[in-house]
Amino acid sequence: MTIFTDVKTIAALTKKIGTEHVIERLVTYLESDFLRWAEFDKSARLANHSESGVIELMPISDANQYAFKYVNGHPDNGQKNFSTVMAFGVLADVDTGYPVLLSELTLTTALRTAATSVMVAKKLARANSTTMALIGNGCQSDFQAIAFHRLLGITKIKCFDVDRKASEKLVRNLSSYSNLDIIICDSVKAATLDADIITTVTADKKLATIITPDMIKAGVHINGVGGDCPGKTEIDAQILIKGSIFVEYAPQSRIEGDIQQLPDDHPVTEFWQVIANKHSGRTSDDEITIFDSVGFALEDYSALRLLKDLIVEHKIGETIELVPELTDQKNLFELLN
Ligand code: NAD
Repeated sequence: MTIFTDVKTIAALTKKIGTEHVIERLVTYLESDFLRWAEFDKSARLANHSESGVIELMPISDANQYAFKYVNGHPDNGQKNFSTVMAFGVLADVDTGYPVLLSELTLTTALRTAATSVMVAKKLARANSTTMALIGNGCQSDFQAIAFHRLLGITKIKCFDVDRKASEKLVRNLSSYSNLDIIICDSVKAATLDADIITTVTADKKLATIITPDMIKAGVHINGVGGDCPGKTEIDAQILIKGSIFVEYAPQSRIEGDIQQLPDDHPVTEFWQVIANKHSGRTSDDEITIFDSVGFALEDYSALRLLKDLIVEHKIGETIELVPELTDQKNLFELLN
């Protein structure tokens, strides 16, 4: 039987453990999986584009486990009362192909994206970073804010969204974090100018330039999360050219990331190399570092692996007959008798 966890189950589990504690543990799963980079069978995700958005399948496997995620990106979904990003996924046994876990991955994607951003920022942001600009204050932003506050020591967040109600929602949701100062700004520049870290997590299906060179200072770390699709960017190409660029999986990032604006041979570093000490992270206090995040299948593999462990530890989830449990493996027809 396959274990099934729905949105309510994962939400209750996250609430019970604490959002920052789930993210913290997920960072350790991510770090150990990124260290095993060479062991994974990797590919760029398969994207089906339409006028209104994209639906993507993200597969990955090692010798033991296979994972995939179904995820969409529809920036205008709010008007139809759907989320911009919705996901579910499967962890399966490589030996048999048996699906072990089927889970919601929308909430989990927000947790794993924040965990990935923090894993990277731990190596790339200046050690004394205290102020973060947070541009785009929708679904992902609360998780980014919590992760950077609790795991990286950010104490001031200057946020901006074209929709002020989104920023007000962010402030409301984080009101219990008494050591975190959140300031709503009237422009991107007002938020970014004195920031140690800039997180961009906007959703707009166009070649946007949310941040331009005049908005940043030397030594800033940019955590670019929202430019994750062909024709969808956030960071001005001049900033990319000035900075050191780190990506998840280069073949996918060159298609989907902000680096789609640059020539195919522009140097970028795959982040696993930093984790594995094969490449340096930040090299000076003045360096501009950029994590051009698009979201890679390995991060969902790590998240599903964590969920599987948490399901056992907390005795949650139900079992479903997602694939047939036959008494005679040559008699599928018995199901109809
Ligand atoms: P969302 O729709 O809930 O929020 C996006 C917010 O961006 C909205 O509040 C919107 O008003 C704001 N926005 C749009 N244009 C803006 C602009 N020019 N300036 C400031 N704010 C602007 O979406 P979400 O679920 O928070 O996702 C945000 C983005 O992150 C999406 O593009 C999504 O595809 C991407 N994403 C990336 C990863 C990753 O791993 N890199 C993972 C999940 C989501």
